[in-house]
Amino acid sequence: MMKQKVLIIGVDGATYQIIRPMIKEGKLPNFERLINTGVSGDLTTTIPSLTPTAFTTLMTGVNPGHHGIFDFAGGVHRDYRSRIILNSSNIHVKTIWEIISEKNKKVISIGVPFTYPPFPVNGIMVSAGMPNPEKGQDVKIFPPEVGKEIMDYIGGIQHKYLTRRGSGFCGMPQMEFYEDLQEKVYYVFEKVRGIFFYLFNKYEWDIFMVHFNLTDMLQHNFWRFIDPGHVSYDKSLAEHFENTIYKGYQDIDKLIGEVLAKTDQETNVIVLSDHGFGPVHYLFNMNYWLEEIGLLKRKKRYIGRYKVHRTTFQRGLSRLGYQNLADHLPTWLSGMNLPVVRRNIDPGGAFAFRNQSDRFAEMIDWKRTRAYADVHGINLNLRGREPEGVIEPGKEQEQVISYIMNQLLSVRDTETNATIIGEVLKKEDIFKGPCTEEATDIYFFFKEGYHHIPSPDFMSKERFTKLNDSIPFSGHHVSHRSTQKGIFLSSGPGMKQSTELQEANMMDIAPTILYLLNLEIPAEMEGRVLREAIDEDLLNKRQEMRIENSEFRVKRERKALSAREEEKIREQLKGLGYL
Ligand SMILES: [Zn+2]
Repeated sequence: MMKQKVLIIGVDGATYQIIRPMIKEGKLPNFERLINTGVSGDLTTTIPSLTPTAFTTLMTGVNPGHHGIFDFAGGVHRDYRSRIILNSSNIHVKTIWEIISEKNKKVISIGVPFTYPPFPVNGIMVSAGMPNPEKGQDVKIFPPEVGKEIMDYIGGIQHKYLTRRGSGFCGMPQMEFYEDLQEKVYYVFEKVRGIFFYLFNKYEWDIFMVHFNLTDMLQHNFWRFIDPGHVSYDKSLAEHFENTIYKGYQDIDKLIGEVLAKTDQETNVIVLSDHGFGPVHYLFNMNYWLEEIGLLKRKKRYIGRYKVHRTTFQRGLSRLGYQNLADHLPTWLSGMNLPVVRRNIDPGGAFAFRNQSDRFAEMIDWKRTRAYADVHGINLNLRGREPEGVIEPGKEQEQVISYIMNQLLSVRDTETNATIIGEVLKKEDIFKGPCTEEATDIYFFFKEGYHHIPSPDFMSKERFTKLNDSIPFSGHHVSHRSTQKGIFLSSGPGMKQSTELQEANMMDIAPTILYLLNLEIPAEMEGRVLREAIDEDLLNKRQEMRIENSEFRVKRERKALSAREEEKIREQLKGLGYL
């Protein structure tokens, strides 16, 4: 039987909503070719439809209740305060990179989210995906000698292109902000592209995955310019940026074309995304709403007067034009180890964030608070779990959960009076597995255009925040059910031709890859081989090998990130509205 290889191109946040109309206009010939000649369809992703959660499911074939990555950060129920930034050492099960390496097949992975720090593999792993604090000179590559070779080849990576200057529009005029952002995003794209073709041309592999963040970054920030109906649409800026997202897709299309031209008879090419995308018009201030319905209480001295954000001192500095100083001061100070600093700055050095989440924790009267929001949904203040929990586990817990779920479904937009939440879900209905208890208690999907922030900023004095000049993101992918659909396109010797795929799930990718590589599939993987996508001949010749693997669950040594690494990740995530 002919040997088969698999090449996966991850296109972060790519959606048919953009792709289909572009194909109609003849602008994406290679996406079109894959759809016409290969297998294609939606790829249902995880809840939440977030990059780290989705890619960890891709790498493991299980739902987050088993792999434990519900978000960039964890420790939701720990102490009401800043959560812990997670990394690849927090994944609770084996990844396909490890499974395939153990079978002596060759692996190359570039920029796949949640491969930082890199795993030792039988091949090469370039950890440049999120969360990767350095994304630069210190991009971590296994093995180190190949890392050096790669950096020499691409001429290194300049750090200035990899970070933003602060949050929001970074104190820049909007035009400058968007130009700067484009430049940075393309800098990274070109570097990853360079690494990809270099390794592709030089090294042997059985599985190769490369991931591009380009489309995600562009859609988060430039969505407002492709939709004249967007609440923050700006005509004069749109004249400059209305094609930015489309150009991103065309650049990916061109790359797919180059790859298809170079692949041999043995290679199956898969193009996929981790979630879809859609507009954000309004932010729903969940903690504000919980206070309105009486489930969350502030301590008396904080009512109506507390603006929780950056410190006055930092704001002052940035107003005077010392944005850089304002951003980096906390890290420098925390490095000095003075007692006064230690009391006020958290060990991660993320002073502004410490203030935000810690002040939220301080201003809430936990003994009278029954529920509170985090970035994904709502948690009960549960006795025995939260430090000052008040809800009794069991009957009372169930009652409060149903009460909140019902209330959520009746939340209305203050202007249109239409309900804004389409679906509410308990974590037990979404996740299965030993990590489920670490998840947020209640999840929900909004109707299109709304997005949730667990804002501790009660000064907003209203349930909704309309997107405005302090919030650069205008597109997102966790709030609406439709954004739970990514894309799947494939062609190659093991795949059917001109076939539409009906039901593919992110959990199916790992078992399907193992099948194509003729390897055993751990019985613990919850996904299935996408048989309806696979060539009949191959299906007839090759049995699926499902074998229990007692080593599938792994206890990894937790690799803590340095204070500087944590701060950089928080900065990146905050800029995208994830924290
Ligand atoms: Zn993503």
